[in-house]
Amino acid sequence: MRRSVRLILSRLLYPALFALFLLFPTLSCLNRNPSNGIHRRTQFLLGTVVEITVVSREPVIADTAISSAFERIREIEAEMSARLSGNQVDTVSKHAGEGPVRVSGELLGLIKACHRYSALTHGAFDITIAPVTRLWDFDSPTNRIPSSEEVRTALSLVGFEMIHLNCDEGTISLDRPGMGLDLGGAAKGYAVDEAVKKLNESGITAGIVNAGGDLRAFGMKPDGSSWHIGIQDPRHRDRIIGSILLDNMALVTSGDYERYIVHEGVRYHHIIDPKTGWPARGCMSVSVASPWALDADILSTALFVLGPKEGMELLERLPGIDGMIVDAHGRVSVSSGWKKRLRLHDGASP
Ligand code: AMP
Ligand code: MG
Repeated sequence: MRRSVRLILSRLLYPALFALFLLFPTLSCLNRNPSNGIHRRTQFLLGTVVEITVVSREPVIADTAISSAFERIREIEAEMSARLSGNQVDTVSKHAGEGPVRVSGELLGLIKACHRYSALTHGAFDITIAPVTRLWDFDSPTNRIPSSEEVRTALSLVGFEMIHLNCDEGTISLDRPGMGLDLGGAAKGYAVDEAVKKLNESGITAGIVNAGGDLRAFGMKPDGSSWHIGIQDPRHRDRIIGSILLDNMALVTSGDYERYIVHEGVRYHHIIDPKTGWPARGCMSVSVASPWALDADILSTALFVLGPKEGMELLERLPGIDGMIVDAHGRVSVSSGWKKRLRLHDGASP
């Protein structure tokens, strides 16, 4: 199989299929048949398959609500993707080292949230990682492993303390030329939250917004039960490692199987340790559940970088947030709030 075809399969189709599988057994009965009250549509956005499921007795209301939620996600992608030129994120990066750039209150708010998590995680989560992620360029089929020298040079332009926000003026500045913003670790979660908001505004009280496995479930299924969500086994694409009932919660997983290349037996993936500039080595996957998809998205990436021990310690300190870490040896650890609720499958044991 040609490499580009393999890449499309591994990055787009398999995650899409898995996104469907994730919602087992719920989705086995899902269709657009109004009699069961569940309506579902998918679109390719944010570099992944986004699936919106809503519960409604009114097909027209459901359809209109889903369309407005997709539209909202498209808006967010247009403004926040580091891959698109001319948008706000690109403009801030292009003017790095040249002083303040005016941005929307929305982008400023998101960057502020990211900044708070950078401080909380001592820089494990850092949206100024862009010079390094550009080098790795996991979104391109021609990606390659950079040299140590390239990584070192790019890393000198990474550091969240070199971002300056002025909320009164609505500006952001990056200290040094060559710096840049990469919101890839947070934008999907933010978009999921905003899509849920749109659905709620349209009168939808139950459903799931799932951006390639970054999801938030709200309300109940038509039979009054909670949404049952599976978590992918990081080494077996078609298996789940555990499952959980979600009530008005987001669940986001960061994994070393999402975007990666293998070279001489070593897996190089897309979650970078800002201390080294190389892929973080402590985990295979980290799943985080929190009321907001934004927090779950940021934390899943951050905990992955922190590694199983420090990651779990942080998880235990955060009220209302739970999760599971699969370390680099495949060992599973589960936060105390999840111990009774998470069902581990196939012999996976904490
Ligand atoms: P996720 O799939 O949510 O874990 O996010 C991974 C994406 O976040 C990568 O594709 C990069 O765009 C970005 N990223 C990688 N490493 C970091 C990091 N240490 N801090 C913040 N964002 C990162
Ligand atoms: Mg993330």
